[in-house]
Amino acid sequence: MDKLSQCRASLEKNNFRCFIAENAEGAGEIIREIFLESSPGTVSYGDSETLRATGILEFCKSTSDFRFIDTFNRHEEHRIQIKRRKEALTCDLFMTGTNAVTLDGKLINLDMIGNRIGGIIFGPRKVIITVGRNKIVDSLDSAFKRVRETAAPKNAARHSDFKTPCVKTGRCMDCSSPKRICNSWSITEKSYPPGRITVILIDDDLGL
Ligand code: SF4
Repeated sequence: MDKLSQCRASLEKNNFRCFIAENAEGAGEIIREIFLESSPGTVSYGDSETLRATGILEFCKSTSDFRFIDTFNRHEEHRIQIKRRKEALTCDLFMTGTNAVTLDGKLINLDMIGNRIGGIIFGPRKVIITVGRNKIVDSLDSAFKRVRETAAPKNAARHSDFKTPCVKTGRCMDCSSPKRICNSWSITEKSYPPGRITVILIDDDLGL
């Protein structure tokens, strides 16, 4: 069994719904099908490069099928963005990515603010997670290593105003910076209720 199929089998065993998409575009099509079957009244998201690559955010901004709560509109004041991120925690359908997924079907995430892992854990009726094949790891230890040593420094580097040590060195220095992006970990071992969380595994290298 290939890695993606093995991961899907484990996720399904852990009560996640799971699909495999050939590429980011295909993942976007699967998400649109889920919109059709679940008819959400409100849709929102936690920031994710992989999710952005699917093109689904452009669709959400253009449709009148549901109310889209845009949590990362950079033209809005910070306090308005935070208000929307709180609203997103009670939307019908919440989308985001994951920092890592283990071959035995667990999702591992590390957040700065917590709006992403908050939505994954509780609140939204349905959750969709998009994840590239490069984020599949063998074990929890590999996941922690991947997230802290690879994903987090790259994520910090995306923000030009973040002066964390990893932005300069490319390596995690376990900093005490006021802009530290590594504050809250989550491990989602199973979906509760069963099928609440859908994971779309994408057969491409995507995201951080
Ligand atoms: S703990 Fe600090 S140095 Fe390490 S990755 Fe996070 S922000 Fe960068």
